[in-house]
Amino acid sequence: MNLILLGPPGAGKGTQAQELERCHGLVQLSTGDMLRAAISSGSDLGQEVKSIMDSGALVPDEIMIRMISERTDQLDCTNGFILDGFPRTTAQAEALDDMLDEKGMKIDHVIEMSVDAQVLTKRIAGRFSCAGCGAGYHDEFQKPAKDGVCDHCGNTEFTRRSDDNAETVRKRLDAYEAQTAPLLPYYRGKDSLRTVDALAEIAEVTAEIETVLGGA
Ligand code: AMP
Repeated sequence: MNLILLGPPGAGKGTQAQELERCHGLVQLSTGDMLRAAISSGSDLGQEVKSIMDSGALVPDEIMIRMISERTDQLDCTNGFILDGFPRTTAQAEALDDMLDEKGMKIDHVIEMSVDAQVLTKRIAGRFSCAGCGAGYHDEFQKPAKDGVCDHCGNTEFTRRSDDNAETVRKRLDAYEAQTAPLLPYYRGKDSLRTVDALAEIAEVTAEIETVLGGA
């Protein structure tokens, strides 16, 4: 089963992708995480994309399409994957369709995580993740059970994204409205789009997604 999670920054795509990974044995393909890994490794790609990401703009389509094409060729994707943060433009969506066609793969569900734009800034500003296993947390909505200790791996180091500041967040939301929101009618037209209320509690959103996957 291959899925796309579609929604603005802060909608909870990463959180739900981690749940889906755990419960369904799918692999989370977060293009944002891949780009951040490229930056941390100091690769040519990382150097090329760092300033773009820090500005809140989108990385060029060719780079992203190549990245996803190479990633979906890897063995761990044969059981199914969750696209988190891709596609983000119509050109990426069209390229994805062609690419999957060629590989004999397809997308089974496109899930829109719908959320009021006003709450996004608050959600994004408070988020952080475990430096060890990547588990996501939030200052207000999802604290670790024991302060300063990861619930999943016991690590005590946490990180915050450099692009999670108010100014960059505004630009990322603008980029979503201008470039990614047009994908909603694109997928609606193919009758593959289902919408979940991403403002609900995390567990409720997970349950709603399960209902979609169950074919309801
Ligand atoms: P994310 O972690 O998904 O919020 O992505 C963080 C940043 O990475 C975005 O603001 C973009 O600069 C870049 N990025 C991630 N995925 C894509 C994509 N599919 N297309 C273009 N840029 C992307």
